[in-house]
Amino acid sequence: MRILLVEDDALLGDGIHAGLKLAGYAVDWARDGESARLALLDQHYQACVLDLGLPRRDGLDVLRGLRARGDGTPVLILTARDRGEDKVGGLDAGADDYLTKPFDLAELQARLRALIRRAAGAPAPVLRHGDIALDPAGRRVTRDGQAVPLSAREYALLHDLLAHRGRIRSRAELEESLYAWGEEAESNTVEVYIHHLRKKLGADLIRTVRGLGYIVGDAP
Ligand code: CA
Repeated sequence: MRILLVEDDALLGDGIHAGLKLAGYAVDWARDGESARLALLDQHYQACVLDLGLPRRDGLDVLRGLRARGDGTPVLILTARDRGEDKVGGLDAGADDYLTKPFDLAELQARLRALIRRAAGAPAPVLRHGDIALDPAGRRVTRDGQAVPLSAREYALLHDLLAHRGRIRSRAELEESLYAWGEEAESNTVEVYIHHLRKKLGADLIRTVRGLGYIVGDAP
């Protein structure tokens, strides 16, 4: 699950970046509006956390541009502008949620989980397939009720595949979802993590679709 964080305040950005990484997201951090605009053109994100007061391009302008080209990436505005009219303006410009500073990191994370669930059309907070359950709030995976310890990357990969259940995910898509800027994958890492997941969770959970990628569940 890859997230774009747009925040020009170094201290605040650092805190959010660290918190989201710890929660298992691959996080790209853009420090101005123009970098955010370019990142959103270049990359598919599961969600974007967007400050409004930004150098080089206002956050609202970034958001309007995104929606104008029909891009539905979930956007949560995070800003010190707390007047009612600012919230209305942000939501009407196409934001999905709005949080004012100061805020609680746990609340930001819960709101992000909700946004990602809604965007995936999967309202249940826990993702399930067969006897496997993944709880994004607790960052916990169980098999038949028993906790299964996973590394951060294994967890992120499983989260992606379960969130796209019934759809083939190519290696490139999985790498995009797993790695933030500056963390480029080595050539066979996805295969290695898939191998680990099959050992821990059963050989049948993730199927290889030759030449196309990987899938959990059946393709429609
Ligand atoms: Ca700012």
